[in-house]
Amino acid sequence: MERRGKIYEGKAKILYETDNPDLVIQYFKDEATAFDAQKRGIIEQKGIYNNRISSVLFEYLGKQRIRTHFVQQLSDREMLVKRLEIIKIEVVVRNMSAGSLSKRLGLEEGMPLAEPVLEFFYKNDALNDPLINDDHVRLLNLATPQEVTALRKRAVLVNHHLREFLDKRDLILVDFKLEFGRHHGQILLGDEITPDGCRLWDKQTLEKMDKDRFRRDLGKVEEAYQEVCHRICGDGA
Ligand code: UDP
Repeated sequence: MERRGKIYEGKAKILYETDNPDLVIQYFKDEATAFDAQKRGIIEQKGIYNNRISSVLFEYLGKQRIRTHFVQQLSDREMLVKRLEIIKIEVVVRNMSAGSLSKRLGLEEGMPLAEPVLEFFYKNDALNDPLINDDHVRLLNLATPQEVTALRKRAVLVNHHLREFLDKRDLILVDFKLEFGRHHGQILLGDEITPDGCRLWDKQTLEKMDKDRFRRDLGKVEEAYQEVCHRICGDGA
């Protein structure tokens, strides 16, 4: 499958057209941003690790009968996916308190949550992705009530499967962000599932193995992505 014109360049990925109007190529870059893109940097080889990690996780979720945009990994940094009309909602699922939840509600980081907590954020860079509720989704016409119900169900199911998969690899899934889109009348899971958008802690040491190492200047950033890739993909990564 050949790369054609660039559709969109984001912070961590570039989207290209292909000769099939239903399929696009996601190209994974090494660029990293944090704090609404105020902090920028490069995480060496991140694109390669993230493409591999995401491919394995999408494939796994597909086997669990969760519909995703994933078609196949094409190369080190390229993934073939179904073209989506992106729903402008970032769906965050949390199993432990961290990040903006800890800040907003004054909860100590690392507190286990009895039930997964779901949050919606409005995908809008100019507004710095604000937290929204179902009424805001309706007000902004981001999704129909039926779609919101589907997103919730899907996100909870993805959490269930990912937690189990990652637990077996000695990784705690603290929280993560998902994006969904429409494709010929179906809602598919899109974007990526990588340490850029998930908090992953080592089960034994509770060491952070995700983008928080970059956000907080904790060092050994590349090493963390490499180790996560190794545990998830099980190859010589
Ligand atoms: N997240 C993301 N993109 C965003 C905001 C958050 O991928 O624009 C992920 C983040 O990596 C974490 C989860 O969503 O795994 C929850 O993030 P949180 O709301 O705590 O925000 P943060 O404090 O990380 O900015």
